[in-house]
Amino acid sequence: MADTHDRELPVGSLRITTGCQYCAVGCGYSALLVPVGADLHDTETFPEASGFITPAMRGRIRYRGSSFDAAVVPDVRCRLNKGNHSVRGGSVGSNLVSHDGSGRSTRDRLTTPAVRRADGELQPISWQMLNALMARLLSETTQLQARDGRISVGHPERLGVKLFEYQFLENTYAATKLFYSLFGTPNVAFHDRPSAAGSSPGLADTGFSPHDFAYKDVRDQSDLIFVVGANPYENQSVFWMNYCSGKRAIVLDPRRTATAQDAVDAGGLHLQPTRLGADSLVLHAMAREIIRRWLDFDDSRALTDFPLRPGIHAAAASLPVLAAEDAGGGLSRAKLPAARRRASRALGFLEFARDFLRVDDPDSPYTLARASQASGIDPDRLGEAVDLLFDASKERLSEQPKVAILYEKGLIWGFNYHNTAAVGALGLLTGAYLERGRPGGRARGRRP
Ligand code: SF4
Repeated sequence: MADTHDRELPVGSLRITTGCQYCAVGCGYSALLVPVGADLHDTETFPEASGFITPAMRGRIRYRGSSFDAAVVPDVRCRLNKGNHSVRGGSVGSNLVSHDGSGRSTRDRLTTPAVRRADGELQPISWQMLNALMARLLSETTQLQARDGRISVGHPERLGVKLFEYQFLENTYAATKLFYSLFGTPNVAFHDRPSAAGSSPGLADTGFSPHDFAYKDVRDQSDLIFVVGANPYENQSVFWMNYCSGKRAIVLDPRRTATAQDAVDAGGLHLQPTRLGADSLVLHAMAREIIRRWLDFDDSRALTDFPLRPGIHAAAASLPVLAAEDAGGGLSRAKLPAARRRASRALGFLEFARDFLRVDDPDSPYTLARASQASGIDPDRLGEAVDLLFDASKERLSEQPKVAILYEKGLIWGFNYHNTAAVGALGLLTGAYLERGRPGGRARGRRP
């Protein structure tokens, strides 16, 4: 949305409502463009800016054939960030492409494709040469042939593709259409996973969408936030600052991140593994201990008739539905693997607690002591974390409990299935399931 000839600005200025390019939080920004030579004033001419326009928010660009001095500021009118911004978001202006070379980041950008020579040096080449080179390599590798207006691909499996997804939808759409539809290779890996699958298959199998919460649910409905393998204070800063900071939080991360420090400062906990690779063991041990305390909470209840939370019933009840839809072809291809796995291998609560976690067996592989020993997490801290999770989830066994679980690549880029299934199971047990509603995210634009 742009307004020309704004009353308060020099003639020819533009004000454009836009968004931050950097992370999935999706903060709102406003770009003020004034013709080069005119005075780019301060916040008085820019009411959507909440304060001082820093040098990092400024840049110079060409837009529709004219040169502008630009300021890109976090927009106070945006309900999400309300004028707040992170270090990254505050540098959008200085990272604008500047065709006259005045922009700081522009000078470092490649302006042509390049191929790496045998001696290791990058050799700039033209786009025409690149296209010819790629066409020849791709068609010879896959034995692509065009004859009588028809295209045939002899060996699609010889082509492996690694796609970077953080880019414009048009690019990912075109790339996936080219490699899936034209070449037909099955070997396409997106940037954060080894195949064209969901990034959190274990979570899907426990009945969750990977993007399953609204920011305001975390802020308004959660008493406790459990952060696993994520550093949102630094990487989704506005979300953490506006919706999470100050709440009681547990952070499971081998590093003393800003998020971990913020959690500790607010009376929370930092679970700090010194040995990596034991995430699912730690999560399952916490789940086992919570179930054990539930049972101790009321000794008269046996495990077999323990009242489950509505979400657990819902997840279990959805299994036959999913199986039926699967058989009838009523599910999208993306959901079929999860539906099949759940229909054939999902555990009910009783099997999970009794046979998998072995809650009544002191020699269970999922004791807190074993988890502490394997991960190096201080056993006292681990026990305190279970105290917090139990306290936040015990009071309303039949109502919506007050736990939110946030996870990111530190969890899913490890033992992906085990870790995401474990976090899903813990979510069901602690009630960390909320209404559907995908926050932010990015349009991947895949076209299988
Ligand atoms: S949190 Fe920071 S990087 Fe993410 S969208 Fe907001 S300003 Fe941009």
